[in-house]
Formats: sequence, C-alpha cells, structure tokens
Amino acid sequence: MKNNSKYWIVTDLDGTLMDENYDISPAKKTLHMLAELNIPVIPCTSKTASEVRYFREENGLSGPFIVENGAAVYGCYENNSSEWELILGKSYTELKIILSSISKKVSYNLTPLNDLNKKQIYELTGLSDQGINRALDRQWSVPFLNPPDEIFYKIKLICESYNVHVFKGNRMSHLLSSESHKGQAVNKLKLHMHNEDVKIIALGDSQNDLPLLEYADISIVIPGKYGPNKYLKNGIDSGSFRLANAPHAEGWANSVEDIINDFKDL
Ligand SMILES: [Mg+2]
Repeated sequence: MKNNSKYWIVTDLDGTLMDENYDISPAKKTLHMLAELNIPVIPCTSKTASEVRYFREENGLSGPFIVENGAAVYGCYENNSSEWELILGKSYTELKIILSSISKKVSYNLTPLNDLNKKQIYELTGLSDQGINRALDRQWSVPFLNPPDEIFYKIKLICESYNVHVFKGNRMSHLLSSESHKGQAVNKLKLHMHNEDVKIIALGDSQNDLPLLEYADISIVIPGKYGPNKYLKNGIDSGSFRLANAPHAEGWANSVEDIINDFKDL
C-alpha cells in the first residue's frame, strides 16, 4: 500500500461488509473498483489476525488490517516477505483472569468463546472446522457469550477499575484493554504509515464500531434487516453518521460508491 493515499476505507467485517452467512458478494464489484483507484480497504474487525489473513487472501486485499477490535494492527512489508505488528492491548491470558474476576463481581458466569466446545462454537458462529481454529487464535482480546443487557451494563460500570473495555458485537461481547479500540488502532496506523492527513471513511454496524465511527471523517452505519443498531442511533439522529440504504454488502457498496462519486465531482 502506498503511504500517501488520500483516503482509506476502514471497515468492520461481520454484519457490515459480510452478512450473517459471511457473504460479501454484493460488494465485490465495488472492491475491484477501489483496487483500481488505489483506495485501500482496511479491515477493522473483532476477528483474529488468522481470520483476516484468510479473508484478505480470498478477496485480494493487500493493505494493513486491524484485528481483535483494535487491539493489534498488522501489515506486510513492501516485498511481502514478512509482517509488521503494532500491539495496543493486554494479552489474552491477562484479560482472561480479569474476565473471571468481573464474573465474580457481577455474580454472572461470563463464558469465553475459547472455552466452548467446537459444536457449541459452530452453533453460535456457523463456522467450519478450520474457520473455528482461525477464530480461536486470540492474542489480545477475550470474546465471551453476550450476557443479558442488565449484566452488560453492570460490567460496563466496573470495567474501568480493571483498565479494560467491553464491547458488544453481533454474536458475542469482547473484553480488551482500555488502551485499545478501533479508533485508537486507526490513529496508530496513521502514525505508523506517516500519513496523518489521510481521510478515514469508516463503516460499521455495532456498538464495537462506535470508537471507529466517532474517529472517522465520514462515518457510515450499515443497518441490519431490522434497521440500525440501537447504540448507533444517536449518531445517526444527530447527523454525525450516515445510514446506508440497505443491509450488509449491498448497503456497503451503495454508500462507498456514492462517496467515491462525490470525490470525482470535486
Ligand atoms: Mg460488526
């Protein structure tokens, strides 16, 4: 990726570019167009580096990528021989101890995804065997089963004292260091690439995307089948975020094409 790109498309994957069956086909044409225009598409996801490496290969992306909800950023050196890595967070082991301590405080058993058996993970995620192995390759965050809303609020209130954040995704919640979220990761990547003037076009669908959408220059909320996520409604109502006109890859493609066409008119 060239360091002097004027725009980066920074996108969540699950629920945003991908639907619940992990399909991105309605956006493929737009991804080709962005590649031709040399506009990087940077995944920014709760997925692991193993999962995103696989996704990039499948979809012909070559730029950097942000994983585990902003806890780490990876990219390839020019000659593609090896990867560089920026770490923002705490280790999985450290976070797992904190999760169990929070469980005791809220009197609710918060179950890490990695503690489930493969059948349970398949039921939750629909992932194949290899897909599950890639998803379990966690280094810097702990995904856990979504607790009921009232427990989630209790966790949010006490997590500051542990220097951690919790975010709610579509299928699960995530515990990570308070030093790391998607917005901080994009900022770190800008500094690393020596491109602080780049304009960020961000796309997301859930509460874990809020720090990214708040950080970006142009922020697009991708709705689900039943409309936008409740945590993102304030931003839409206040006019800070735009709402895509269709769910998942279709809304993603329409919104990105609209923005690119606006740039062409400038
Ligand atoms: Mg999502």
